[in-house]
Amino acid sequence: DSARTPRLRFAPSPTGYLHVGGARTALFNWLYAKHYGGQFLLRIEDTDRARSTEASTRAIFEGLGWLGLAWDEEVVFQGAHGERHRADAMRLVERGAAYRCFCTPAELDERRKAAEAEGNAFRYDRRCDRLSADEVARRVDSGEPFAVRFRVPEGETSWTDVVHGRITFPNKDIEDFVVLRSDGTPIYNMAVVSDDIAMAITLVMRGDDHISNTPKQILIYEALGAELPTFAHLPMIHGTDGKKLSKRHGATAVGDYEHMGILAEAMLNFLALLGWSPGGDREVMTVDEMIALFSTDGLQKKAAVFDPKKLEWM
Ligand code: GLU
Repeated sequence: DSARTPRLRFAPSPTGYLHVGGARTALFNWLYAKHYGGQFLLRIEDTDRARSTEASTRAIFEGLGWLGLAWDEEVVFQGAHGERHRADAMRLVERGAAYRCFCTPAELDERRKAAEAEGNAFRYDRRCDRLSADEVARRVDSGEPFAVRFRVPEGETSWTDVVHGRITFPNKDIEDFVVLRSDGTPIYNMAVVSDDIAMAITLVMRGDDHISNTPKQILIYEALGAELPTFAHLPMIHGTDGKKLSKRHGATAVGDYEHMGILAEAMLNFLALLGWSPGGDREVMTVDEMIALFSTDGLQKKAAVFDPKKLEWM
C-alpha cells in the first residue's frame, strides 16, 4: 500500500566489520527514507550467538556514525525477540500453515543418505504432516521435542522486485522448510519476517544474495495474514577482477577508509555510485543532492564494480 509511510531497515548480522557492501545497503535504505520522508531503522541480527560479537556490533554503530547514517527509533536486537519469533511460528501451526515435525536430525540424516545412495536429492517427505491429531497430541504431551515446518502449498510464489521486475518461483522447488528448531530457536526467515512485520517495514532493500529467501518469506507473510512489503534486491559488488568482493580486494572495511583520512562525504558519494546512477553524467554529489536525486529507478541490475583507486582520487 503506497499510502503507508515508508519504513526501511538495515539488518546486518554482527559477524564482522561494516564492509563496503553493507554500508552501500545502509546508504540506499537511508537515502530512500530521507527522500520520501520515511524512517530508517537499524536491526542487529544477532540470533546466531556463536558468530555474533559485541565488537562487530560496535563496528557497525561506528561505521554508520562516521558516515552520518543516523537511524530512527531504538536499535532492534533480533536476539531479544525470541518469544515473538516462537509465538509467530506457533501461530502458523494454529492457522494450519505449518505442522510439528518430530523427526530427529539423526533420522533425517539417515533418510538423506538413503536417498542420495539411490541418486536422489533428499527432500522432506512430509511424514509428520500425516500424523493424526491424536498422535500429535500424545507426542506433545509426552514432551517429545519437535521442530515446526512450513507446509508449502501448491502453485507458485512471485513478486515484482523493484530492481529485477517480476520474479517467480515454482513452489514445488521449495521443500517444507523448518521455521522453528526443536530447541525453540527460529530459523533466519522466520525471525526476519516476524521482525519486519513488528517493525512495520514497507520496503525491504537488501543484497540480491537474498532473492532465494524471498519466496519463503512471502509464504510466511501470507500465512500470517500480514501485509507484504515491497522488495528491492540490490546487485552484488564485484572487484575489478569480476569476482565477488572480498578481503582479497584490499580495504573492504569501511573503517579502513576513515583511518586513511578519506572524508565521509567522499565515501558516501563513492558508495552511492555502486549500483545506482543518478542520471546524466553526475559523479560528484553532496549528501543533500543524493537525497534529492535518489530514486529506485536508477538502481542497476548488473553487478557493481568496486575500484578502491577511484575512492583514493576523490
Ligand atoms: N542479516 C542479513 C545479512 O546480513 C540481512 C537480512 C535482510 O536484510 O533481510 O545478510
